[in-house]
Amino acid sequence: MLVVKYSDLKDVAKTDRLTKSFQRQKEVGKPIYYILPSNKWLQAARKRKAGMAFKTFDDLADLLLKKANIKYFPVSESERTIFFQELMSNDKNRFLNNPQELRHKAKAIAETYGQLKRIGLTLENLPTQFRQMEPIFREYETEWVKKKRLLDPEHRIHEAVSLPMNQELNLGGIVIDGYLDFSTLQYMVIAYFVSLGIDITVYLPRIQGAEIVEGTEKQLKKLGFTVDKEEIRQIMITKSNVEVKSATTMEEEIYGVLHEISEKSQVTPLTDIGIVLADESGYQEKLIKAAEKKQIPLKVPVKKKVKDTQFIQFIYKSLLKHNGRFINRWDTLDLVDTMLRLHFYKSINYMNKKKNYIEIGFLPEDEKKQVEAFINFRKTIPKKTSVITYLSSLKELLVNSDFTCSWKKQILEEKNTEKLLQIRLEWKAYDYLVMLVTRKIEMLKQQGLEDLQVHYHIFVDWLYEGIQGGSIFVERTPVTGIQLYSFRDVGLFEGKSLYVLGMNEGTFPKGHKLSGYFQESDLKNLPVPYASPTKKLFRQKDDTFFKQLFELADELSFSYVVGVDPHNPILPSGYLEAWKDQIQDRKYSAANRYTEKVSDSQNDYEEKMAYHVGVGKLVHHLPESLERMVAKLSELEGGIEKVSPYWEERLKRDKLSVTMLESYAMCPFKYALERILKIKEPVEKQTILDFRDVGSMLHDIIEKFYKQLNLIGKPFSAFTEEMKETAETFLLDIFEEEWSIVEANHLDFSKLQLSIEKEEWLKKLKKWWLAERHHFWENKQLQSMHLFRLEEAVELDIKLDDDTTITMSGKVDRVDIDDHGFVIYDYKSGFASLNFMKEVRPGLKLQLPLYLVAMEKRLANGHYQIDLTECFESLPENLTAHGASYISLREPLKRAGNSVWREEHFRKNSPFSVNSYATKEETLEAEALLAKYELKQRIKELWQGSSHDFSVRPLKCISSCAYRPVCRVTQDQIEEGEGEFK
Ligand code: SF4
Repeated sequence: MLVVKYSDLKDVAKTDRLTKSFQRQKEVGKPIYYILPSNKWLQAARKRKAGMAFKTFDDLADLLLKKANIKYFPVSESERTIFFQELMSNDKNRFLNNPQELRHKAKAIAETYGQLKRIGLTLENLPTQFRQMEPIFREYETEWVKKKRLLDPEHRIHEAVSLPMNQELNLGGIVIDGYLDFSTLQYMVIAYFVSLGIDITVYLPRIQGAEIVEGTEKQLKKLGFTVDKEEIRQIMITKSNVEVKSATTMEEEIYGVLHEISEKSQVTPLTDIGIVLADESGYQEKLIKAAEKKQIPLKVPVKKKVKDTQFIQFIYKSLLKHNGRFINRWDTLDLVDTMLRLHFYKSINYMNKKKNYIEIGFLPEDEKKQVEAFINFRKTIPKKTSVITYLSSLKELLVNSDFTCSWKKQILEEKNTEKLLQIRLEWKAYDYLVMLVTRKIEMLKQQGLEDLQVHYHIFVDWLYEGIQGGSIFVERTPVTGIQLYSFRDVGLFEGKSLYVLGMNEGTFPKGHKLSGYFQESDLKNLPVPYASPTKKLFRQKDDTFFKQLFELADELSFSYVVGVDPHNPILPSGYLEAWKDQIQDRKYSAANRYTEKVSDSQNDYEEKMAYHVGVGKLVHHLPESLERMVAKLSELEGGIEKVSPYWEERLKRDKLSVTMLESYAMCPFKYALERILKIKEPVEKQTILDFRDVGSMLHDIIEKFYKQLNLIGKPFSAFTEEMKETAETFLLDIFEEEWSIVEANHLDFSKLQLSIEKEEWLKKLKKWWLAERHHFWENKQLQSMHLFRLEEAVELDIKLDDDTTITMSGKVDRVDIDDHGFVIYDYKSGFASLNFMKEVRPGLKLQLPLYLVAMEKRLANGHYQIDLTECFESLPENLTAHGASYISLREPLKRAGNSVWREEHFRKNSPFSVNSYATKEETLEAEALLAKYELKQRIKELWQGSSHDFSVRPLKCISSCAYRPVCRVTQDQIEEGEGEFK
């Protein structure tokens, strides 16, 4: 008998109905299959009536295949995509090589194939515009479906309903309950059982004006079903009490609803309240967390996804997904780190082990062996082989690892319950993976698929696909609590009040799209046997999902997110149009939440207090902890960091280097971390050459080079023709020598990276030498000038006031001299500027001006008497500076914004090739220069500050600062500093 019966939505899978089927089962002496639409329905029905066979449509197909002795390996839709990927990567002539593009393409093609099968069609029905995909579809069907018997869900149904059924099925009938409609494949299963003469009863819900249900009835009638007129009763129209509220954010929506539930639960039992999530994946996790915080029990088990455990992260991300290149310790760091975490060492032990590994690559022997075993596995695994080989090697690696021994030891010793739970969780993840791998090996063997070969990356994706669905129970479902529903299973609700969250436009109704390259227009010309999946059909389904809510609850509270911007509100679902005028706008918002007079808990109370303080309100009787926090925050915001007089006295020094003062001027906070507390930068993988190594290499090369040419102390005229020939060879030899030191300090760099860098620096050095020849050695106007000193250490006493004189020290890179004056040069590996108002006056660039002063004083007080006699026949008098300049290795010819010169050198044919952009000074005489830029006053401020004030107040905050992660500087403070000396 084929019959359709109508009933109330609330009667779906009810005990009475199940008992009726159970009795019928007894009468006929054969099982009756009871088909329900989702797992939640199946679980509820199993609890209500034991002894019945509750199934899905897929189970019916599996039953048919089993009866016909068809052997197969079940695969999921996602696995089918992976197999298409494998097929396509084997055919490099036809498909792209880029793995990312290949993955996308394979997904689109596999989904197109799946869609074709889901509408009940075969390759013969493939629309013309998809014909180019036919060869790959055929290959899939021949190689994977027919030969290897890997059956995806659609194939299992297609194959099942095409079987000639000669055997007795031992089936007493089928009852289908809780469905509004059926997909094409489900109709194909129903039609098959109809053809076998099996009794089928379909219960359809009585929902007023539900077009989709009417359509289902029509379709079933075509298959031979009759409608049981007896069951058609007058529809009871219930009027639900409806409220609609908008929220500023999803979080506020969740908190708002939970707060209302908490209040309602004072008078209403929790079983009378339910929550429907229009967007389950977006809301569920957040809702569970918020409910836990508000101590509202939800009837959901606490589960942890296997893929989120550290163990799986270790195996999948750090090992299997690794590119297999373990050249230096940075390549292995992720693997080592996750492995050390998995051993659950005490934090200090973990940190020390990791630190030792990062700094010197050291690991204790046991851990080293383990890491080597994992690396060896990854390095030696073939690019393509049988799935069984991949699985067996992985299983061997897992079984031989010492994780379980280590966890066992920890469990025996550990007292901390939290940690014990974590260890147990990881252990379960380990067991899950070993079991999964073992099961897959067995299944492949049973199916005779020992030779099934795939590429390694396909194997990894396939295995991960299997891991993704796995979860570990952390806590079972509580006995009482609020039940969560989707639209599909809300029929299970038996209470009074339903809260429906996420009712936004675009979320519900969802808007249906066909998979792959299929478009709705393609459906018109195809012989889809039943229920063509048009947008109209899906919209009818959503209409009915919405209508059913009014049959199920007396009170309905809908909510959606409107956003925080009143000019750009996010829209509610079109279904809420009827209640547009009664929407309670932004009912759920932080402002409303925090102004609630009653608090759920101490934590809630403190959050409210913190909110009011945060928005600038005066709050009396703040809890002590908040009081402290407020004081600390305002201290931190001010950026003030001053030390006590005790420490000021200890930090005061009368002698300091010029670079220390510059560094203090740039950022007092950084100065304290770097130079006083001596906090080292974290060790990180080097991706660029260390500028300190490069700088010291250049200085060494220049000094060695001029020493080798014996030109230090000599006039530029001493540069001979012979030197012209040999100088560059000397330079390159010295560079080779010095470069080997840089290489030794950059072991993280690949050979290729180092050779690119070397080439770059070689070019720069050659360019530098050309500029040196041009400016100095072959400069006809400067033939009597001498390269007087290189790397000259200097000290300068500066009298700051009547009682204070400090000594500044430094090293001058180069001093040139003639009988009219001298020039100071400073070699830089990068770009360098010299702006007296913006850089010298604030103290950011003090080296060149202070070296000018120091050198003038030395020359005046006879410090260089002997040396100068060697340079000049008669001793020049009143030597003063011509100028000073940076020489950048990037632009070594430049004498512009990177230098300062006496005004007489700003003329055509200046011997120093001075550009008009350089700083022009009437005099560079020491005292005049110090006075003009008020340098003594600034040096005094910096010197005094450098022993007691280390506030976060940078004049220049560099984006690459190593201390940024621990620095609280704000954008305002950065801009304030930059503007101070403009
Ligand atoms: S980030 Fe800026 S303000 Fe902070 S320490 Fe570094 S340079 Fe100074």
